[in-house]
Amino acid sequence: MINRRQWLYGAGLMAGAVAQSGRGLATSTEEAQERPKHSLDLSDFVPTSMLQVHASRVERARFPLIDFHTHITASAKSEKGVALASDRRFLGTAEELLAVMDRKNIRAMVNLTGGYDQGLSDTVAKYDRAFPGRFYTLTEPCYERWKEPNYPQFQAQAIEQAHRQGARGLKILKTLGLYLRENITSGQLVKIDDPRFDPMWDVCGQLNMPVAIHVSDPLAFFNPTDRFNERYEELNNHPDWSFYGRDFPSSAELLEARNRVFARHPKTQFVVLHVGNFAENLANVAENLDRFPNMTVDIAARIGELGRQPRTTRKFFEKYQDRILFGTDATPHADQYPQQVFNDQLYEIYYRFLETEDEYFDYAPAKIPPQGRWRIYGINLPETILRKVYFENAARQLNIVV
Ligand SMILES: [Zn+2]
Repeated sequence: MINRRQWLYGAGLMAGAVAQSGRGLATSTEEAQERPKHSLDLSDFVPTSMLQVHASRVERARFPLIDFHTHITASAKSEKGVALASDRRFLGTAEELLAVMDRKNIRAMVNLTGGYDQGLSDTVAKYDRAFPGRFYTLTEPCYERWKEPNYPQFQAQAIEQAHRQGARGLKILKTLGLYLRENITSGQLVKIDDPRFDPMWDVCGQLNMPVAIHVSDPLAFFNPTDRFNERYEELNNHPDWSFYGRDFPSSAELLEARNRVFARHPKTQFVVLHVGNFAENLANVAENLDRFPNMTVDIAARIGELGRQPRTTRKFFEKYQDRILFGTDATPHADQYPQQVFNDQLYEIYYRFLETEDEYFDYAPAKIPPQGRWRIYGINLPETILRKVYFENAARQLNIVV
């Protein structure tokens, strides 16, 4: 802190101020008014940390790993958040992915968004079958046919067919709960626990296919995009990510509907993505893990949240070490989303977070932290836990025998 006198000297105003006022020292309110105030656009604010602490570089994971959460393919056609085509967009070639995988000690990538029908077959052929043991593909519901009266049976059969085509599990995007509507893109939002999906959840259990499910989103996305929102810049850059207002349910309502599905389908395994979609509240995630033995979580795109509460996170990993899967949300060429862009730097940050006790470092390869302006701390997991999180827990879900 500098006092007013020093500040006035610094600003070269002392002589004039004293001569003019002759009233002695101003009150702090007056002081604030006198001080020239510069405005700085938030997007131009890129402070350099002056903190000097140890910085590790972890180029390779200590053990071979499975990245349980990636997007190598995507639907070629979507409308209002609902995927509407079997056709896939291929976001990266197997060869370019394998180069990074080999450098980073990634044994396998799980491509969640493999679609269905022909798109699924194309994906399995290009990746899973061409490079056995390196890629695993999941299928997705066919919402195009949602309005057909026999949808529940159709969807269950489609999962069986996908299984025969080589799909290793089912992926549910946040489409369910936030985008899918009674008339697909219009009408009332369809609830996550709508009974029309019951046959689909059941058949996944019967076929031993895990359901990778994304429900809700970060809490800040349900609050107004204003100066109090800790993810203001992110929401300002992506206004369509805001679920504040309109007819959106609250995050709590979405999670409750999701929990009713877990309770109703105890024989189905659910991998609840993004740390159970409530990384801001690990006590809640822990409570649900205790309630639902058929629930596990991945850590994709949430090391920003986990790493800003390193002590709580470390305890969480110790307690639930058999139920946490390594995942990143990595998407080839997703340069506009640095927290999930598939490249060497992204993986190095995850490894640094899990394997070191480094302090105060960036959680994404970006100049400005993309998911809120803070930095993270490593949790330095012991080898036994690392092996489980990197490989064993995912291998069990995918029935991979080594
Ligand atoms: Zn994802």
